[in-house]
Amino acid sequence: MSDIRERIAGLNPRQREAVKYIDGPCLVLAGAGSGKTSVITTKIAYLIQECGMSARRIAAVTFTNKAAREMKERVSSMLPGKSGHGLTVSTFHTLGLNIIKSELKTLGLRSGFSLFDPEDARVLLRELMQKDAQVDADQINRVQGQISSWKNDLILPGPALSHAETEDEAFCARVYEHYTRHLRAYNAVDFDDLIMLPATMFERHPEVLAKWRRRIHYMLVDEYQDTNSSQYQLVRMLMAERSTFTVVGDDDQSIYAWRGARPENLVQLGEDFPSLNVIKLEQNYRSTAVILRAANTLIANNPHVYEKTLWSDKGLGESIRIIMTRNEEAEAERVATEILTARIKQSAKWKDFAVLYRGNFQARLLELKLQHYQIPYKLSGGTSFFSRNEIKDAMAYLRLLINPADDNAFLRIVNVPRREIGPTTLEKLANYASERRVSLFAACSELGLSHVLGEKAVERLGRFNHFLEAIRKRMDQGDAIAAIRQMFQEMDYEAWLVQNASAPAIAEKRMANVWTLVDQLEQSMHRGTEEGDEASEETDDVEAAISRLVLRDILDQQAQEDDTDKVQLLTLHASKGLEFPHVYVMGLEEELLPHRNSIEANTIEEERRLAYVGITRARQSLTLTLTKQRKVYGEMMDCTPSRFLDELPEEDLQWFGRPDKENPEQKHERGKEALAGLRSLLG
Ligand code: ATP
Ligand code: MG
Repeated sequence: MSDIRERIAGLNPRQREAVKYIDGPCLVLAGAGSGKTSVITTKIAYLIQECGMSARRIAAVTFTNKAAREMKERVSSMLPGKSGHGLTVSTFHTLGLNIIKSELKTLGLRSGFSLFDPEDARVLLRELMQKDAQVDADQINRVQGQISSWKNDLILPGPALSHAETEDEAFCARVYEHYTRHLRAYNAVDFDDLIMLPATMFERHPEVLAKWRRRIHYMLVDEYQDTNSSQYQLVRMLMAERSTFTVVGDDDQSIYAWRGARPENLVQLGEDFPSLNVIKLEQNYRSTAVILRAANTLIANNPHVYEKTLWSDKGLGESIRIIMTRNEEAEAERVATEILTARIKQSAKWKDFAVLYRGNFQARLLELKLQHYQIPYKLSGGTSFFSRNEIKDAMAYLRLLINPADDNAFLRIVNVPRREIGPTTLEKLANYASERRVSLFAACSELGLSHVLGEKAVERLGRFNHFLEAIRKRMDQGDAIAAIRQMFQEMDYEAWLVQNASAPAIAEKRMANVWTLVDQLEQSMHRGTEEGDEASEETDDVEAAISRLVLRDILDQQAQEDDTDKVQLLTLHASKGLEFPHVYVMGLEEELLPHRNSIEANTIEEERRLAYVGITRARQSLTLTLTKQRKVYGEMMDCTPSRFLDELPEEDLQWFGRPDKENPEQKHERGKEALAGLRSLLG
């Protein structure tokens, strides 16, 4: 029996039906962990192996790169040799990007176009909006959100303006118009364009659409509940004639309404394709009964269109642990140490652990703690601070300051900003340095250099050397941090950033990152002295502080290099579709999960689905953490436990660090007593 037949035999009857149904459109609607993605991967292999469809004719799309990668791996493990060659398994956005790349001319783009991430787009918007008046972050967010939702609904600037109902909308539409023109002038596209451009192109150029229809014969869409209008249009247009597609989804996991996702697309699908075969799955193969029960009870608080019953035969499993800590630092520390011990106790691998959180900012402290304990981790989504180019440059300067022999650091920044020191000069310098057995930096100031290099080159190298030496001297003499700040100013690093950024405000942001690094260094010096045994002694040691930063940086680089066995750090949004033996969800607090914006906008149901997604990632163990206090916009705030904790089955929870349950009345009495005691003490 071939692999694929064995595979299909291992499925439950309804999964099997979904795999084998290829005569028309098919929708699998089912809860978390019920094998929807498995149906997709098996079906791809089935189409290729058993139905003789060429892999090139199949396109499968999902939501995150990580999910796409995993899906690809699952498929290739089922296919022999090269039979999977040419198969498309990607995100919607990558599919869109590929379409754009092959249709540049029709779209009026030039090759080598840039892709603006939301941050770049924001910066451009700010620039455009600031021409008329000062704008604040909220305004930019609002305009960006509005433009994005127009794009997701395939509405171009013209119609956006003519249909604007309020002055505010008209303003947005005008910015949208400018923004679009600027993007084109930069030969750039933004994230939403990746779907909108192909979809609108298909509408306008039927011949291009016909070409793509000949290319893609079967489409499979995972996480269908999160498609937005433009994505749905893309699928619908590509598949309209043949109606050969399979989409799978779970309305309880719809978590992208804020980005224009339309769970109604599930219903729309039935209307657009009356022959749609709807298949439901009910067995969860992922989680223990305790975890599943928690997920089911939580989500039962949301209204439901389709009732689903999910069950698992994996046994009850461990209780769900809820850990409450003093503050966010203690929370991060606790998660790190928990993982450290659990790994040994469970004889698990690092990659068996995932830490999920509502916002990327929550990862920052955790990153530091994991680094502290030398726990390898992988941060998905969001660029790690230390992997930003400007931070790498700044780190190279710091490294060279404390260690002039650091040739790598030297090479990274000798021409940053540009000092007109060419590759031939560097090659000769390197030869000279290795003959003399000195570092590149030291060689720059040696007299003998004039025998191997021309006058100009010698002068430029000498100038660089003197510049840094002067800074080093200033550091030794007094305020090291001031000297470092001065260094970045004197060499006008900001001007260099401006030259290399597509918009001045991007450069500004990058410069701000450098200042953040210097601030961190300063703080780390003070912390270093506080933590030291002799706290009173003023031994601010900039070298030690820089070394600590460098170490962090190196650990970070190592983390980039091997991707195999690491703790996974992800936002709840990014965790969709994935599974891990041990899951930690951080920050189960009101205003965080559910998020404050959702509380204000009354979109708690979406937050509940987000929590549901998080919980259902866990296979064996689930730990939820929260803190009593957290810094919000620089201010320490008291936190309230998330309402979602109250919605979990009490008997399955095991609390750690919960304050004694006392009613507010008692608390008040206690406060009064303490105050009276204090008064009498003061006489
Ligand atoms: P989510 O809603 O979270 O995306 P899903 O419905 O896509 O979940 P899968 O990821 O496909 O679920 O499957 C969950 C787990 O169950 C996977 O580890 C998968 O290998 C396993 N699984 C799926 N179907 C079966 C089956 N018939 N027998 C045994 N294990 C299965
Ligand atoms: Mg899935």
